[in-house]
Order: sequence, then C-alpha cells, then structure tokens
Amino acid sequence: MNEETKQEKHYICKGGCKGVSPLPGVCQAPDCANHNHELVECNCTDGLHNDFK
Ligand SMILES: [Zn+2]
Ligand SMILES: [Zn+2]
Repeated sequence: MNEETKQEKHYICKGGCKGVSPLPGVCQAPDCANHNHELVECNCTDGLHNDFK
C-alpha cells in the first residue's frame, strides 16, 4: 500500500479569495469577486486546485 494520500473531492472559489470547502456552496468572503457565487468542484490531489495561480 504505497498510494499517496488523496484528497477527497472539494469545492473551490475562483474569485480570488482561494476559498476551499469540503461541501458545495457559495463563496462567503465578502470582499471576493465571486462572493455568493457557487464554488467550483475540484478533484485535484496536490492541493493546487489546477489553475489556481
Ligand atoms: Zn471567493
Ligand atoms: Zn483542489
């Protein structure tokens, strides 16, 4: 059993706040461009959330 620890599916905000949630929902950061917008499903295993920059 040498498998690396894998993150479970999670949800991220791409509005700039870099919010991450284990559950679907909306961004709750008041100063984020995507405040109250739905979080995006993410399946990354490296914690980088794909195109987060
Ligand atoms: Zn946000
Ligand atoms: Zn991710």
